[in-house]
Amino acid sequence: MATTVERPHYQLTFWLGEFADADLEHRFRARVAPAVRKRLSKFFLVWAALLLLFGIHDYHTFGLSGTFLILTTARCAAVALLLACAAHLRQTAGGIPAWPLAAVLMPVTVAFVATLSFLMSTDNLPWTTTIFMAALLGTFIVLPERLGTGTLVSIAAIAVYMVCTYLVVPETTPARMTVFGMILALPAGVGFIAAHRIQIASREAFAALEHAERELSRRKQLETELRRTAATDPLTGVFNRRHYLPLFQREFERALRYRQPLALCLLDLDHFKRINDTYGHAAGDTALRTIADICRSELRETDVLGRLGGEEFVVLLPNTTAENAKAAAERIRARLAATEIVEGGQRFRVSTTIGVTELRPGDRQIDDLIQRADHALYVGKEAGRNRVQLT
Ligand code: GH3
Ligand code: MG
Ligand code: MG
Repeated sequence: MATTVERPHYQLTFWLGEFADADLEHRFRARVAPAVRKRLSKFFLVWAALLLLFGIHDYHTFGLSGTFLILTTARCAAVALLLACAAHLRQTAGGIPAWPLAAVLMPVTVAFVATLSFLMSTDNLPWTTTIFMAALLGTFIVLPERLGTGTLVSIAAIAVYMVCTYLVVPETTPARMTVFGMILALPAGVGFIAAHRIQIASREAFAALEHAERELSRRKQLETELRRTAATDPLTGVFNRRHYLPLFQREFERALRYRQPLALCLLDLDHFKRINDTYGHAAGDTALRTIADICRSELRETDVLGRLGGEEFVVLLPNTTAENAKAAAERIRARLAATEIVEGGQRFRVSTTIGVTELRPGDRQIDDLIQRADHALYVGKEAGRNRVQLT
């Protein structure tokens, strides 16, 4: 039989490629946050190293002059800031969120060093422009999950860079500035398209993963439910024969091997046929659920309770003598006798007779105990019902 796997439902916004559903987007960001922190931290280190490395260019251009010292100080300050932020991203899970930190830090360091560098000399314009364009592309590569942030950062950085150029470079005309702006926008555009694709792919992967996880947990739940229903009687919720018999067998063998006491009780509701005939089958069912509830609350976790069939229940009490089992059975009997059962506006009481026995030398199988308890039960019924009969 073919099974159909339902496709995950999600919608992405056209321009930014983010989930249209705010909750889903929030979950996505929370899921990628640790990886983003790690990636940005690494990127800040690389960025810091590059800033230092380009000090070589300052040296070639300005020699060991005052200008070189100013630029080097500026570079060192930017590097210190980047290192501090990289360390911050590595250490804290909370703290300053990674996105704003990166969004602010990258243009700040670019503007700080590059602008300063060509303010010193317009000869540097080709160099700084190349670096600036690489940095624009880098913004989208490093921050692909947040296209909106990347775009704003790029637009702001391009505007600042153009204003500086206009102020510093002589003979700039509006036409030339327009072309310059278009050239600067080129890496930003390419970066945007690349990031948009990464963005969509990573969100698609996330949606598929969430879908698979949900499906897995649904199946696990189903499996648990199936296992539970296969092991229990649907009316009373106690173990059915198929499930309790192997448990009985294990306890029986353990008791034999370690010479521990083991007790068994058989419960049979009194005149149950009459209850059904007088109050109806639904009332009988309620009575069965009531006795099961009472047993569960009076017995230990280690005791095994099962429905033998009809209105008969069986309890195995590991590590318990017949005397102690008799006391437990007496508690159950007394509570049931004192409980008023209400069903469909009718009120009635039921009683139970309980046969109790324990493991004896010579017992070969669990059935030996069941038969003895059944005999005790018969004796109890004969003696007038609503009683605990020990054998
Ligand atoms: P006694 O005191 O001798 O045990 O009398 P009794 O009427 O309980 O004995 P008997 O074993 O003859 O009757 C058991 C009745 O239990 C028969 C049936 O109507 C009822 N019964 C068995 N299983 C169910 C069940 O799942 N629900 C309901 N409501 N009644 C059940
Ligand atoms: Mg019976
Ligand atoms: Mg009965």
